[in-house]
Amino acid sequence: AGVSELLLSRIRDVPDYPKPGVMFKDITPLLADPAAFAALTDTLAALSTRHGATKIVGLEARGFILGAPVALRAGLGFIPVRKAGKLPGATLRQSYDLEYGSAEIEVHAEDLAAGDRVMVIDDVLATGGTAGASLDLIRRSGAEVAGVAVLMELGFLGGRRKLEQALDGAPLEAL
Ligand code: IMP
Repeated sequence: AGVSELLLSRIRDVPDYPKPGVMFKDITPLLADPAAFAALTDTLAALSTRHGATKIVGLEARGFILGAPVALRAGLGFIPVRKAGKLPGATLRQSYDLEYGSAEIEVHAEDLAAGDRVMVIDDVLATGGTAGASLDLIRRSGAEVAGVAVLMELGFLGGRRKLEQALDGAPLEAL
């Protein structure tokens, strides 16, 4: 079987989490399987290289678990994008809408600059709100977007369409 089938076989569906009616995609079985985790890391690193990335951004929190080994594998620096209030240095901050209310993410201002080409890594693309806000942050820093790469895209939530404008032609890769 191909890599996609291996990865899919290691994702657990958890019904009614975190609330009734939601089917949560749990990647912890994949992380616990070193062959699957290595296949995922290698694939994401190859994609990042192919798209000319010079830096890897990981989105808190599961984007850290995936993004850090991808960055090492690709020979690139890892930059965390965190929920607001967690980074100690001077930051750029971006807010985005949630179903109820809003959220904010931040990046250290000194971590991204003109001349960087950034690949954004996360586990799941749902509505696209988080990834979209990260793309806005990256562009505001002066850096370019190399693309977004996720393990899984929940297509029925329309995240790909929502990201179209922020991607501005950059690729969205879902394994
Ligand atoms: P979005 O902003 O609606 O696209 O949600 C994406 C963010 O929520 C990502 O950082 C994911 O880690 C997380 N997320 C949403 N749905 C799931 C899921 O089913 N499994 C794991 N993470 C999820």
